[in-house]
Amino acid sequence: MEKFVRLVNGTVMPRIGFGTWKINNEIIGAVLSNAVDAGFRYFDLASAYCNDVEGCQRLLQTGVDRGELFISNKLWNTKRQYSKAMKAVKSTLKRSGLDYFDLYLIHWPASECEYENWQEVNLDTWKAMEEVYQAGMCKAIGVSNFLPHHLDILLEKAEIKPMINQIEFHPGYMQKDVLKFCGEQGILIEAWSPLGNGKGDILKNEELLKLSDKYQKSIAQICLRWCLQNGVVPITKTRSSKHMLENCEVFDFEIADEDMERINGFEELAVSGMKPDQINNFN
Ligand code: NDP
Repeated sequence: MEKFVRLVNGTVMPRIGFGTWKINNEIIGAVLSNAVDAGFRYFDLASAYCNDVEGCQRLLQTGVDRGELFISNKLWNTKRQYSKAMKAVKSTLKRSGLDYFDLYLIHWPASECEYENWQEVNLDTWKAMEEVYQAGMCKAIGVSNFLPHHLDILLEKAEIKPMINQIEFHPGYMQKDVLKFCGEQGILIEAWSPLGNGKGDILKNEELLKLSDKYQKSIAQICLRWCLQNGVVPITKTRSSKHMLENCEVFDFEIADEDMERINGFEELAVSGMKPDQINNFN
């Protein structure tokens, strides 16, 4: 399997990304610097994590060519709609010391529980996304946590289709309907919490433990490889340098079809409970 994947617009990106959720500002620089040393080049940042500016500045100081880094950020829920979204992208770029993001996502859809006119809100926000893409401020654009009914509306009116949808995806929570829908539309799926946020449910799961013995790989590596073989780009996070190295070592083995099927058939497990249709402006 190649270590890079090509999006529908031709953008080439690493097939595995490094997450930054809940890594505080005091340590984000050191963690990202170690992640670069371990071999990660794709970094999933978000304004909502409040460490994105600090983190980005440190990435630029690592000495790795800007062209080799793949830096992604996300538009937070309080910045929805055209003018707020435009301002947010420009100001985040400036504060981060960047000319462009490699990828920019709408973090959560506006939903029915928040807005009566959620469809228009999402469309208006997407208009800004298209504009920043066309202006070269973002090399690729997409969404996160969008379900088929949110995407349907966007696709009907969008001039440019989202290239990526980042969703919760791990053994025990595949969101097969979203996977199928996005596959048919050429929208690449990214997995957030591919290790189920590191909770024991997944990292101590008996079935996964058996596969770990069989393939002589850790449960984390089995989960990441399982994402890759499902055509999904995993975004994984760790503070540990040992785990960083381990999480990069997922291109030298293959999970057999019957074992893929077994994991694909897991009952619900380690689900975060963050539902796109029930999310408010929690900030
Ligand atoms: P993971 O599912 O990768 O879980 C991270 C946890 O797993 C950490 O506690 C880490 O602990 C542990 N871990 C990582 N590697 C290993 C390993 N090899 N062996 C054992 N334990 C390991 O991450 P997240 O839940 O953070 O999700 C990944 C990223 O996705 C986020 O950081 C964020 O960037 C993004 N995200 C996006 C969302 C969205 O709405 N778009 C929502 C949530 C997340 P340790 O540090 O000890 O290694």
